[in-house]
Amino acid sequence: MTQSIKNIVEIVNQEQWEDWRWQFANRLRTAEEISKYIELTESEKQALNANRGFAVGITPYYLSLIDVNNPNCPIRKQAIPNQQELSVSAHELADPLAEDCKSPAANLIHRYSDRVLIIVTETCHMYCRHCTRRRRVGFREAAITPDALTAIVSYIKNNAKIRDVLISGGDPLTLSDIQLEKIIKAIREIEHVEVIRIGTRAPVTNPYRVTDQLVNMLKKYHPLWINVQFNHPTEITAEAAKASAKLANAGIPLGNQTVLLKGVNNSIEIQKQLVHKLVKNRIRPYYLYQCDLAEGLEHFRTPINRGIEIMEKLQGHTSGFAVPLFVIDAPGGGGKIPVLPQYVLYQTPEKIVLRNYEGKIFTYPEPNNSEKEE
Ligand SMILES: *Cc1c(COP(=O)(O)O)cnc(C)c1O
Ligand code: SF4
Repeated sequence: MTQSIKNIVEIVNQEQWEDWRWQFANRLRTAEEISKYIELTESEKQALNANRGFAVGITPYYLSLIDVNNPNCPIRKQAIPNQQELSVSAHELADPLAEDCKSPAANLIHRYSDRVLIIVTETCHMYCRHCTRRRRVGFREAAITPDALTAIVSYIKNNAKIRDVLISGGDPLTLSDIQLEKIIKAIREIEHVEVIRIGTRAPVTNPYRVTDQLVNMLKKYHPLWINVQFNHPTEITAEAAKASAKLANAGIPLGNQTVLLKGVNNSIEIQKQLVHKLVKNRIRPYYLYQCDLAEGLEHFRTPINRGIEIMEKLQGHTSGFAVPLFVIDAPGGGGKIPVLPQYVLYQTPEKIVLRNYEGKIFTYPEPNNSEKEE
């Protein structure tokens, strides 16, 4: 018999449950541990027991969001692997975005001229089944070494074009406040770095990580932005909302990067609920990602048209700031490419013919003055 994960609360008391370190230390990682609380399917057991599988780790908090009575629970699909994950299709790649060859220093990815991404840890609060960096997260659970950080800081110092630094992983919020502050402070001291960004799933998978102490540290380093990854409206719980509010109240602009996942959020209804709930919580929908070609993700991939259709049904039909940009991160490392519904019907030197969100057609005349004359 399985018991509700919430029963643990009675055993450990509420204070421990709300301690992010307790959540982190008690991540469920094996079929044996998970099956105490959730009746696993044969397919899930096989995937969990396969030693060639990718890292598994689920906070008790995130596991408690699983609806055990719904075999298609969108939380379950993001957390517990099944057999489909073990099959690798012909298009799939270990390093789908060719990050490893855009890496001028260990743990650094320099894809775009004015911004870089640092992998500060390979540890996460939860290992998402759809993770694009699954080739490297969760195996060593190691943070960046001081030497690697020094090398990265000097690389950025020597590249005056870099004005935006992304602190990513893994999940940077698995580091202690002290470890994280060391990194942020070193980057903030570089004069030409204008903006620092942190990419984290902690508000979704371990919202107790967002403590007052963390927030007080972060707000010393403005302008600092945070991008989170809510994929389904049920992930925006009271706890997640509270964590997000703390960050927003500290003046940190919040963006959300959703991965479009079959069986999790591939419908317009869910996407609409999600973006509305996000903006109610002062989180701006930023990107909607087409699922990458990482290994074992075929079962999560949706046709490109599904993403275009979702954009079509959002743009103009709801607040402009609730509409994310649908992007494909180009396989082989071309960066993020926006994919939009087609609004331009045709264009001549004299005019452009457009359709609006309702399908009505409009003409906009070009100016008579040529730009060249200016
Ligand atoms: C996504 C990403 C960025 C940031 O891209 P934005 O479009 O500015 O959010 C930077 N570097 C790498 C390697 C990325 O994957
Ligand atoms: S939190 Fe991010 S890096 Fe970690 S497993 Fe999920 S998607 Fe991958």
